[in-house]
Amino acid sequence: MRSWSIPAGKLFGIEIRIHLTFLFLLVFVVLTAGSSAQDTTATVRALGLVGIVFGSVILHELGHALVARRAGVPAKAIILLPIGGITILDEAQGITESDQTWTRDIHIAVAGPLVNLMLAGAAALILPAAIPGFSVWNRPLVDSSSLLRSVVWLNVYLGLFNLLPAYPMDGGRVLRALFSRRTDPVRATQRAVRIGQAFSMLFMMVGMLITTRPESRADGYWLMMIGFFLFVGAQLEERSAVFHSVLQSVRLEEVMLTDFATLSPADTLEDALQKAVHTLQDDFPVVRGSDMVGVISKQKILDALRSDGNGYVQAAMNRLFDVATKQDSLASAFRKLAARNLSIIPVVDEQRLVGIVTLQNLMHSMALLAESRKLRRTDLEA
Ligand SMILES: [Zn+2]
Repeated sequence: MRSWSIPAGKLFGIEIRIHLTFLFLLVFVVLTAGSSAQDTTATVRALGLVGIVFGSVILHELGHALVARRAGVPAKAIILLPIGGITILDEAQGITESDQTWTRDIHIAVAGPLVNLMLAGAAALILPAAIPGFSVWNRPLVDSSSLLRSVVWLNVYLGLFNLLPAYPMDGGRVLRALFSRRTDPVRATQRAVRIGQAFSMLFMMVGMLITTRPESRADGYWLMMIGFFLFVGAQLEERSAVFHSVLQSVRLEEVMLTDFATLSPADTLEDALQKAVHTLQDDFPVVRGSDMVGVISKQKILDALRSDGNGYVQAAMNRLFDVATKQDSLASAFRKLAARNLSIIPVVDEQRLVGIVTLQNLMHSMALLAESRKLRRTDLEA
């Protein structure tokens, strides 16, 4: 989803990105407006309508992002789609060992639709009072010919639509949070995903039926598109839930490399390179006696050799590193790697170096672990 979007600045420190399908909406609206009336005001009004959708979706997502931030889960980016937005939370930071996250998840999920409904409510109260002759109930409810009325009804639609219990929409997230009280997060997600996919099928089928009638063809296409997005979104979410559970439950002793090469601070860089040639390892712990004194990568050795000629590992190694214990989770290892921008973590047991975890080996083992879990799960169910 991320690669199909373009950056559009920042709000409250959160990166805003616009998904390319939003541009399709723009083209779609301009084209349909152009055919009904040839004048430019119709097009300008149509663009105004797109602007209202845009603004309402941003406010909706900011609702999620700001409530999430207050709960300790910062938002990395907001991606705007014509049917809503996606707020990408930095969940690595929000991961807690407690299982009391379900109330937090419900608050975050409900915040978006709540923003829209409150906005609609406020507009419905203020507009008739401020503008003589303005009625919220005149038809059409949403149309480029009545932009202010559209503000009210678009927000009503956005709010209610997102509350449908169709994962990954907000209502579905509430459902998932409720499921997760009784069962593990992966299973809770899978249940919510099944319900979400049933909804998306329904949308696509109803959409297809509606397109057979010329007067509602556009609505039909919209429904089909929404159904399609829901389906894909649900699948992506399911995968990321499996990924997260692996991160949480796997201990480093299950994935660390126990057969690894080390370097000595007194090694020359040329010696170090010779050793590096004979292993697949990209990163090395530097050990003096039984003490860990630093880490160094193959690339760093090469760079140092190129720029300063032959020297000692001691001078080129990185002294700032984190160690982990065998019982630490993969999630904590990833956090430590990311925090210091490292690609290796030594694993120690009572001060003794017992293994290493590298970015390279984590990527490999993640894929293997996900597969072996799937196999085990189907074994259990069979
Ligand atoms: Zn939402």
